[in-house]
Amino acid sequence: MVYNCLKKLRSILYPSRCRLCLAPGRSARELCDDCHAELPWLNHTCPGCALPLPADSAPGHCAQCQKRPPQLDHCAAVFAYRPPVDHWIQAMKFNQDLTAARLLGELLAETATPDATAMPVSILPVPLHRRRLAQRGYNQAREISRPLLERGMALAEGRFVRRRATRAQSDLPARLRRTNIRGAFSVAGQLEGRCILLIDDVMTTGATLNELARVLKRAGAARVEARVIARTL
Ligand SMILES: [Zn+2]
Ligand SMILES: [Zn+2]
Repeated sequence: MVYNCLKKLRSILYPSRCRLCLAPGRSARELCDDCHAELPWLNHTCPGCALPLPADSAPGHCAQCQKRPPQLDHCAAVFAYRPPVDHWIQAMKFNQDLTAARLLGELLAETATPDATAMPVSILPVPLHRRRLAQRGYNQAREISRPLLERGMALAEGRFVRRRATRAQSDLPARLRRTNIRGAFSVAGQLEGRCILLIDDVMTTGATLNELARVLKRAGAARVEARVIARTL
């Protein structure tokens, strides 16, 4: 309650402005309605790889995911990795811009309801290796999960998933990403009957999310879904 009062007081003292056009933001968010509508939203995508489906096609998995089913039971991205979203993600990751993380997290929370609602759902921000975490000072996936946690979603205990050091996926071509990430995660603990909702900033090939899903299912997770801010197309 104290937190909510402080938030309200702050929004009165410092009304939010749109990051893009400086018009007043809506409900303490740094974005006006017009700019919100013009963001590169992704709709009608494959639930296996989050890539757009042809506009006239029926909902369902794309041909690629039918041929090679992903480990993820469901996967969706809020945006295409395009301006201004790509700039915000880079600012969050490389310029310590945590207000960008807050805005991206709010936009994710607007849309991120898990596909399977019948079982208990726990959020798992994709872990960083501890050396990367020490360099950056925070895990961006954890930062963008905050608005979801504030809306009452449960956090999967972060310590039970460890990430070993691997080469940064972004340095590698797509065909090497799957082998690079293989064995990068280990899980201690039992996840029987739980649905895990993975949260991350960018999805490129999906190799990291699918490897994590594979390991979580081996530890007993009944279902693993992923919600990311942006998908590279
Ligand atoms: Zn605006
Ligand atoms: Zn697909």
